[in-house]
Formats: sequence, C-alpha cells, structure tokens
Amino acid sequence: MSQRRLSPQKIQEIRDLAAQWGKIVARRAFGEAGPGTQVDFRTLEQVAAAAAAGLTEGTLATLLEQQAQALGTEAPCPDCGRPCLLDYEDRPLAVQGGHLTLHEPVCHCPDCRRDFFPPAGRAAPGQPRLQPDPLTEDH
Ligand SMILES: [Zn+2]
Repeated sequence: MSQRRLSPQKIQEIRDLAAQWGKIVARRAFGEAGPGTQVDFRTLEQVAAAAAAGLTEGTLATLLEQQAQALGTEAPCPDCGRPCLLDYEDRPLAVQGGHLTLHEPVCHCPDCRRDFFPPAGRAAPGQPRLQPDPLTEDH
C-alpha cells in the first residue's frame, strides 16, 4: 500500500506544476498577445476559475476511477463475509471548486439483504479495517 497522505512538499510540488499550466490556460484563452487592457478582472478570474474547476474534476475523476479499478469485481460482505458483486451507481458530487459524476462502487449482499460500500483502500494485513457505512435506503 502506498502512503495514505501526501507530504506537504509533494502537495506544494503539485501546486507549482499546476501553476505552470496556468500559462497554457492563459495562452489558450487570449492567445500569445494576452487579453489586452479592455478585458476586466472579473473575466480573467472567470477563466482562472473555469481552469481550476476543470483541473479539479479531471484529477478527481482519474483518481476515483483508479481506486474503483483497484477494488476488483467483488467485495466481501461486512456482515457474513460472502463475496458480493460490485456494481456502480452514478452520483453527482460537488467537490471543492467543481462538480463531477462519481461512479460509486456499491455492493448488495443477497443473504443479508443489505447494501454496503466496499472499502476504498485495502487495509494492510494485520491492520484493523474501518467498517464501511451501510446505505440507509433499501433498493
Ligand atoms: Zn452478507
């Protein structure tokens, strides 16, 4: 298992990288010559906000997709341990600075007649595993 949290240095690295992409966004929005003097600050801010939201959505969508793939095709029921097939439900998600559709992995145990979320990360052997929250509504 890789690290659960990134170091502050790594986070700063990512931020610096994204700051460089800002130059690409600026060029794409207004060309090599730049916005000139007629474009107001609000419009410039709008471009920056759209870029940030798109970056947030694209980054999270990729990472969540990778986590979903790492789950495999089934997960053990937290109650009885029966391996249950993984299904996906699309859920609109508001995140910091954006929106995306989360393809949320959900399992249903036919024996216990309950839905559960498979754990996002597999716990290392010998480590206690957090119980996923059961879905409140019935299907
Ligand atoms: Zn079960």
